[in-house]
Amino acid sequence: MTVTLTRADGSREQLSDEVLDELDAALRGPLVPGGDTGVPEPCPEWNAMYGGRAGLTVRCTGTADVVEAVRFARTRGLLAGVRGGGHSVAGLSSNPDGLLIDLSAMRGVLVDPERRLARVQGGALLGDVDRETQAFGLATPLGRVSETGVAGLTLGGGYGHLNAKYGLSCDNLVEAQVVCADGSVRTASETDDPDLLWALRGGGGNFGVVTSFTFRLHPVGPVVAFAGVMYPLEDLGAIERGWREYADAAPDEVTTVMVTMTFPAAPGMPEVVHDRPVAIAVAVHCGPDPAEGMRVLQPLRELGTPVFDMSQPMPYTAIQSSLDPLFPRGVLRAYWKSQYLDELTDDAIDALARRALDRPAPNTLVNTFRLGGAVHAVDPEATAFAERTSPYMVSFDTTWTDPGQDEAAVAWCRSAFEEMTKYGNGRVFLNFTGLQDEPLQAGTDTAYGRNLRRLGRIKAALDPDNVFQLNNNIVPTPG
Ligand SMILES: Cc1cc2nc3c(=O)[nH]c(=O)nc-3n(C[C@H](O)[C@H](O)[C@H](O)COP(=O)(O)OP(=O)(O)OC[C@H]3O[C@@H](n4cnc5c(N)ncnc54)[C@H](O)[C@@H]3O)c2cc1C
Repeated sequence: MTVTLTRADGSREQLSDEVLDELDAALRGPLVPGGDTGVPEPCPEWNAMYGGRAGLTVRCTGTADVVEAVRFARTRGLLAGVRGGGHSVAGLSSNPDGLLIDLSAMRGVLVDPERRLARVQGGALLGDVDRETQAFGLATPLGRVSETGVAGLTLGGGYGHLNAKYGLSCDNLVEAQVVCADGSVRTASETDDPDLLWALRGGGGNFGVVTSFTFRLHPVGPVVAFAGVMYPLEDLGAIERGWREYADAAPDEVTTVMVTMTFPAAPGMPEVVHDRPVAIAVAVHCGPDPAEGMRVLQPLRELGTPVFDMSQPMPYTAIQSSLDPLFPRGVLRAYWKSQYLDELTDDAIDALARRALDRPAPNTLVNTFRLGGAVHAVDPEATAFAERTSPYMVSFDTTWTDPGQDEAAVAWCRSAFEEMTKYGNGRVFLNFTGLQDEPLQAGTDTAYGRNLRRLGRIKAALDPDNVFQLNNNIVPTPG
């Protein structure tokens, strides 16, 4: 086979059969060329704008394969992408002309119930972890769609239903095994390589390929109280004002988000919401008594006249996968932007309500997240993830299906984001970033704030040539 790959400096390198055979022999997992091999991609990119196979994929079976792949990339100066769960909104794990280090076959999860720890391989999906940890009545905070990769989500922070009580995903990371750019394997923890652990807690995929994550676990479920109350979207202004009042006073057991979207006319969804734009007050109360949790969530069910109310005690794993059908892999096109707010004013709510009525496609979401509790209990400089004060975040999850709509949908998202800068504090959440023609560094200055200099120094020490640059990129800055 002839394989020509892009190098990190933009030049191209043709790899001979001999070179490829040598790499292949060093691997346990398969080496997959680009183009149509007739075999479907096991874990394709979620965002359909970035579908298609990488120029060359190393489908890793373990840390040893990752070491071989990183050494190969480093010695040849190749542009290397890394895939965990493939859910990068910006398509950062696609790398169509380069080398992809694919960990999607590495999905093992081992739970130590006595020490309340879970060791998770670098390609695991959120659902893999929830399934294994819930077998012991335990959980660690993860995101809201179970097919998302643990790796990208955690390295970028990790918002989900348990944040207010137990913090971000990255706050619960206690140890990681990392293959660094020079091919060395490091273990980062509070005692070994604490700088690297600090950087991995929010600093993205900049510092190496994480082959395993060890998370702290907490008693959760198996059944928890859930609120999912759908109101007419036209009422969002009033509903969100009531939601704000509730959210500002809610106990840390409650993590809540206001979502707006239009449900498809799909079997399984109640007919009353088929093709109906709705505002959904979503919340989880993660305390041990679901009946008490439902009492605490009750005000969210009385913010107006619901179109439909799904609220009830529910298995935690069912909540964690309930949104999956709305976010199929490789079908939706996406460009998302988010922004933090110091205050959710009435004017900001009215602006959001207007934008929610003007969404470019039914699958586009306009969301408001309430943040606080354990997330804000962490000092902004204690982890790379610096955003520890804003009580609200707004995200425009612009998602559509028609390729002909690409330009208009991206433009809509940009203009909604611009309008929100009147109310926001300018800081962004990098896990929700679309990039398109923006540089890979876009948003890192506001997202990392004062932590960016320390991140730049750690990057310079571990990856001076920026081998790992297909990410929300931190430029190596020695000194
Ligand atoms: C439908 C959907 C729902 C989402 N919901 C949430 C949510 O509830 N909360 C939230 O916080 N975020 C959410 N996100 C955002 C998500 O966390 C990020 O897109 C994240 O990057 C996805 O991780 P991944 O491993 O699936 O991504 P991938 O596309 O596999 O990787 C993205 C980037 O992560 C890095 N990376 C991946 N694996 C590794 C590894 N093993 N070692 C080192 N670096 C690695 C690389 O830099 C890579 O470019 C959601 C995204 C989607 C599409």
